[in-house]
Amino acid sequence: MAEQVNTFKGNDIMPELPEVETVRTIIAPQVTNRRIISVNVLNGKVVAHPTVDEFCKRLCGNTICSMDRRGKFLSFIFENGDRLFLHLRMTGQLLVTPQDFPQAKHTHLVMQLDDGHQIRYIDLRRFGRFWYVRNGEPTAVTGVDKLGLEPSDKSLTAKYLKSKLACRAKAVKEMLLDQTIVAGIGNIYADEILFATGIHPEQKCSELRDTDWRKLAKAIPDVIAWGIETNKITPEDYLACEGASYRNTPLLKVYGRGGQPCLKCGRPLERITVGGRSSCFCPACQRKRSL
Ligand SMILES: [Zn+2]
Repeated sequence: MAEQVNTFKGNDIMPELPEVETVRTIIAPQVTNRRIISVNVLNGKVVAHPTVDEFCKRLCGNTICSMDRRGKFLSFIFENGDRLFLHLRMTGQLLVTPQDFPQAKHTHLVMQLDDGHQIRYIDLRRFGRFWYVRNGEPTAVTGVDKLGLEPSDKSLTAKYLKSKLACRAKAVKEMLLDQTIVAGIGNIYADEILFATGIHPEQKCSELRDTDWRKLAKAIPDVIAWGIETNKITPEDYLACEGASYRNTPLLKVYGRGGQPCLKCGRPLERITVGGRSSCFCPACQRKRSL
């Protein structure tokens, strides 16, 4: 097998819950209690709702109270109860910069704050989206309503996972990526969760045993909490690397390590495609069971 060393392929390096949480914890303290005095939309494509004109009109003059996260969605919460939702999708980056900070290529939106700083949105591939939702206006337009449980939610039990998934014939790896079951897991952490449980990524949900559901219910919050912890970064370093939120990739146990030795047993890790997504696993520690 050709050697594959940390091959992070294009569509696999999307920010997942831990990376989005990193963005929130870095940005929130810098913008709380700040008022937005002007908005410059350089690329209207990133504004999903409402129209660009209306979006700018609604944003201007608002004071930011706090920032929230749900799954991979971020939101700014304003004093008047309105909310600005943001999904970074594949390559979105959110920065708070001094006004005279050099403007990065692919900057699509700039919000001027009353303290002289700016909130900037940069996105190489332009799949990220903003939604401005008024207080009392339905949030369905954002997609946030469809999200399943947060990994840290106490209701995420073996029973919950089994009730949602045991009837499904799809591979467990695919179902971990389903945001309507558990919100925030993407390709990287799905591989890490499966390695922690010893479950083969292609194992069908309908073939999982009660012990597997219990292992998943434990590994999902544990691995995501580990991701948040190992992603910690100072605001200075965050700005210096222009919002690149992946701090822990060298610490990942399987993702991007195809061909390298398994950290548990030493056998070479394998890389396969499951549901169109690249997946790394240990063929010895994560054996596929036949019924
Ligand atoms: Zn192994």
